[in-house]
Amino acid sequence: MFDLPVSRRLALVLAATAALSGTLISCGKAPSDDKLVVYSARNEQLIKPLFDRYTAETGTPIEFVTDSAGPLLQRLQAEGSNTPADVLLTVDAGNLWQAADSGLLQPINSAVLKQAIPSHLRDPENRWFGLSVRARTLVYSSERIQPGELLGYADLAHPKWQGRLCLRTSKKVYNQSLVAMLIAQYGEKSTEQIVKGWVKNLATAPFSNDTKAMEAIIAGQCDVTIVNTYYFGRLQAKQPDVPLSLFWADQRGEGVHVNVSGGGVTAASKKAAAATKLLEWLASAEAQQRFAGDNLEFPANPAVEPVAAVKAWGSYKPNLINVADAGKLQADAVKLMDRAGYK
Ligand code: FE
Repeated sequence: MFDLPVSRRLALVLAATAALSGTLISCGKAPSDDKLVVYSARNEQLIKPLFDRYTAETGTPIEFVTDSAGPLLQRLQAEGSNTPADVLLTVDAGNLWQAADSGLLQPINSAVLKQAIPSHLRDPENRWFGLSVRARTLVYSSERIQPGELLGYADLAHPKWQGRLCLRTSKKVYNQSLVAMLIAQYGEKSTEQIVKGWVKNLATAPFSNDTKAMEAIIAGQCDVTIVNTYYFGRLQAKQPDVPLSLFWADQRGEGVHVNVSGGGVTAASKKAAAATKLLEWLASAEAQQRFAGDNLEFPANPAVEPVAAVKAWGSYKPNLINVADAGKLQADAVKLMDRAGYK
């Protein structure tokens, strides 16, 4: 298969993985030798405008497949060294960590990326770099809670929140990363007490997504929840007078739990230099505001301002634990949440 031209190999691999979803979409016409192939868990609407611009600027055509993180990782694994993918873009440090841990990414030696992306938002072994930051923090009823009553994640285990807390399911990787960070911070024993306290305080069974948890507050079912800020931003955009507010957790402690969406160069890529260039461009001032802003996230590059709607939430102190630790401790977090009865 290695003797075949790239396009033919690509066709064969795609046929072999036809059972897996995801259609390859092209940006720019491909005299295909300098083309890059991207597997992306960020959706087409968010990445295609950027890829189009990159192609226009550099002449490098980009083909991409979008799917959720799990299937994309499985696909990379199944394709092994025959994968047509040069770049993986995915959400959550847990998924990036898993991709690196499974040997699917190669180390990138890029002074540009190291300079652009703070060290807590990238792999210590340089196999992936965060490209946008999502803060997972508290959202509360501005009708029933004064911000002075809130502190942060651990405080939501206090009996004063009994029957007032809503949470998204523990099955979601975002909560697994959050609890992994709490383990890194407080250790297993204390974190288990915190999670047990959350479960005791739940007003109702956990929700399938962050938006439903916020809607439950609006409906008066509970008063406070934990969400990724871009979901709050989407709700706010639809309903500017929504009776909810953001609260930056743990500002007197370790800071807000942040996670990333990010990318790396696949272990199998024969175009590491070109793939690295694309990542460097995505981390640049030119691409960052759009990469993050179109999804109401924070740029990972601190030299770039967030878009206005995001900036309006004010600044916060982030937890500086390396996001890779969230990946490393994720399996422990899953077991802990199970023991604590968090569904
Ligand atoms: Fe999300």
